[in-house]
Amino acid sequence: MQIAADSVVLIHYTLKDDDGKVLDSSGGGEPLAYIQGHGNLVPGLEKALEGKKDGDAVAVTLSPDEGYALATRRCCSVYRSDRFRFGRDPQGMQFQAQTDEGLRVFVVTAVVGDMVSLDGNHPLADQTLHFDVEVVSVRAATAEELEHGHVHGAGGHHH
Ligand code: ZN
Repeated sequence: MQIAADSVVLIHYTLKDDDGKVLDSSGGGEPLAYIQGHGNLVPGLEKALEGKKDGDAVAVTLSPDEGYALATRRCCSVYRSDRFRFGRDPQGMQFQAQTDEGLRVFVVTAVVGDMVSLDGNHPLADQTLHFDVEVVSVRAATAEELEHGHVHGAGGHHH
């Protein structure tokens, strides 16, 4: 089955930077499960996978615009918040939080008085991304999965 809008796709992937350093990989773990056409992956990767099928290998290089920069520009990047929620020495601390744009990574960039500044840019914003992807399986999403906006079962939510 070919990857198209509303396909549930399982992939193994390795993400490298310009120097060939591995930044992220599903190797050794469960494949990543996502729904095509729902903004679950960075835009360029979703585009590169369109029309691929089970067993296909895809190598793609994405400019920052096709990677994480786009999501960054859609959202304000600096937040101020109560420092006491972040412990005694929060500088440099990373954490994930749910936002209108989905789950985002924040970094505490400054502590000023009893406030902290948070940077909501993705850590890989403005980086060129080199993905090696292997398509593990492709199937149609169920109505329930489309309603929830995420995959159920293997590699997805269990609830
Ligand atoms: Zn669900």
